[in-house]
Amino acid sequence: MDKKVVIIGSGFSSLSASCYLAKWGFDVTVYEKNSTIGGRASQMVKDGFTFDLGPSWYWMPDIFDKFFADFGKQTSDYYTLHKLSPAYKIFFSDDSITIGDTMDKICSEFERIEKGSSVHLRKFISDAQENYDIAINKVVLKPGLSPFELITTDTIQKVDQFFKTISGEVRKKFKNPKLISTLEFPVLFLGAKPSNTPSFYSFMNFADFGLGTWHPEGGMYEIIKAMHALALELGVNFHVDSPVGKIRVTNGKTIGITVNDQDIDADFVLSGADYHHSETLLEQKYRQYSEKYWDQRTFAPSSLLFYVGLNKKLKNVEHHNLFFDTDFEQHTYDIYDKPQWPKKPLFYANFPSKTDLTMAPKNCETGFFLIPIAPGLEDTPELREQYFDLIMKRLEARTEQNIKDGILFYESFCVNDFIEKYNSYKGNAYGMANTLTQTAFLRPKLKSKKVKNLYFTGQLTVPGPGVPPSLISGKLVSELISNNQ
Ligand SMILES: Cc1cc2nc3c(=O)[nH]c(=O)nc-3n(C[C@H](O)[C@H](O)[C@H](O)COP(=O)(O)OP(=O)(O)OC[C@H]3O[C@@H](n4cnc5c(N)ncnc54)[C@H](O)[C@@H]3O)c2cc1C
Repeated sequence: MDKKVVIIGSGFSSLSASCYLAKWGFDVTVYEKNSTIGGRASQMVKDGFTFDLGPSWYWMPDIFDKFFADFGKQTSDYYTLHKLSPAYKIFFSDDSITIGDTMDKICSEFERIEKGSSVHLRKFISDAQENYDIAINKVVLKPGLSPFELITTDTIQKVDQFFKTISGEVRKKFKNPKLISTLEFPVLFLGAKPSNTPSFYSFMNFADFGLGTWHPEGGMYEIIKAMHALALELGVNFHVDSPVGKIRVTNGKTIGITVNDQDIDADFVLSGADYHHSETLLEQKYRQYSEKYWDQRTFAPSSLLFYVGLNKKLKNVEHHNLFFDTDFEQHTYDIYDKPQWPKKPLFYANFPSKTDLTMAPKNCETGFFLIPIAPGLEDTPELREQYFDLIMKRLEARTEQNIKDGILFYESFCVNDFIEKYNSYKGNAYGMANTLTQTAFLRPKLKSKKVKNLYFTGQLTVPGPGVPPSLISGKLVSELISNNQ
C-alpha cells in the first residue's frame, strides 16, 4: 500500500509538494478551507474583468521552468509567457523611471538620471548574478536543518556580504535617491526593509534587471491552474471547502487530521497553511514555537488591496507601476519600526490589461492597487475608503488624467480578510521576512521537532516569501518526507 500523505491548504507550496510526493509514489490528498484552490494566489472574475488577488510579478522564470522540468514538462505545455517591455515604471514626485527589458535600456535610463552610474550598475548586476547562481543553485536548495548547509566554498568567499546591508552597498555606488530606491525595491519582496537585509540578497536585483519581468497570458492564476492540472495528472486528490480543525497525534506521532468533524487517517501530515495557524491545530504540548516567538519575528507586511474595474483605457501607465512619490524611508519606518498607518504611503498599481487584452472587457482596464502596511493594524471600512481616495488622487495627479469617473466598481482586501480567508498570522500578506536572523536554518523548521511524521511548508518556513521560494519549499519538504519513510 502507498503511504498516505494529507496536505493542509492548496497554495503554491502545497501544490508543489503534492506533485513531488505523488510522483514519488505517495497517495496524496489536499484539503483546502476555501472553495477554490491557490491560496493567496487566488482569482476574482467580475463583469468580464479578471483580477489576480495576490501575486502579480512573475520573476525568476528559471525556477518555474525547473519545477515543470522535474515532471518532464515545460511551462509552455500549460501557459504562454510574455516578457514585459518595459518591465515596470516608477513614479517619483517630479519624474519617472522606466525599467526596460534589457540591461542596455536600463543603463541608458540610469545615465539619464546620474552620469556615470551605468558603469557601477553593470558591475553591481554582475556581482548580483554571481550571488544568484550561489543562492538559487546551492543555498535555497538546502532544507535549513543546520548552519553547516550554508558553508560552501562559494559562500565563504561572500561571508562579508551577510554582514553588510543592501542599503549600505547601494548607497556606496549610487548617489541619486531615485536610483537608490529603484535598486532597493527588489528586496522588498523578501519582506524586510533594505537597511535590514544582507547585501548577499542583491541576487534579487539580478532577478529584476538580469532575468526580467514576465506575464503569463490570462494572469498569475494560470500557474495555479497549471500546477493543479499537473497534480491531477499525477493522481493527487483535492477537497475544497474542507477546513482542517485538528492535527491528530498519538504517542508523539501524527495519525491524521480532522476535517469538518470527520477523522481522516494518514501516515504523514504536511501543512502548507500559515505555520502559526498550523501549530494551533495541535495540542499545546506539541507546538514548537510559543506566541512570544512569533510575536518577536519580523513579518513581511500586510497589504491594503483594491481591485478596480475601469470603463476606459488609461494613459501614462504601464503593466506594473510603483508610486515612490513620497518618502520611502518614512513608509518603511511605519511598517517595521513603529507600526502605524502610513500618512503618505508608497503604493503599487498593476494594470495587466495594458498588455493582456484577455484581462478586461474591450476598451476597459483592470486595476490592482497595493499599499504595504504593518501586519496587525486596525482595519476598518472608513480607513480603507480614506486610503482609496488618497491613492486615486495621487494616481490622477501623477498620470495627468481623470480616473475616478471611470470606476465601474472596486473591492478591497486588508488585514481582517487575510486573517479570515487564509488564517494568516496578524494578517501578514507574504509570510515571514528573510533577514539575517531569519534565514535558512534560523527559520521555522520544515519538520516538526515534537511530532513524528508532521511537516510544514510555505512562506513562513524555508526558504521564504514569494512564489518561486514556495515552489522550492514544496520540493524540499517532499524530499524530507520521502527520505524519512
Ligand atoms: C497581495 C500579495 C501580493 C504578492 N505579490 C507577489 C508577487 O508579485 N510575486 C511573488 O512571487 N510573490 C508574491 N506574493 C507572495 C506569494 O503570493 C506567496 O509567497 C505564496 O503565494 C504563498 O504560498 P503558500 O503556499 O506559502 O501559502 P498560501 O498561498 O497562503 O496557502 C495556504 C493555504 O492554506 C489554506 N488554509 C489555511 N488554514 C487552513 C485550514 N485550517 N484548513 C485547510 N486549509 C487551510 C489557505 O486557505 C490557503 O489556501 C504576494 C502575496 C500577496 C498576498
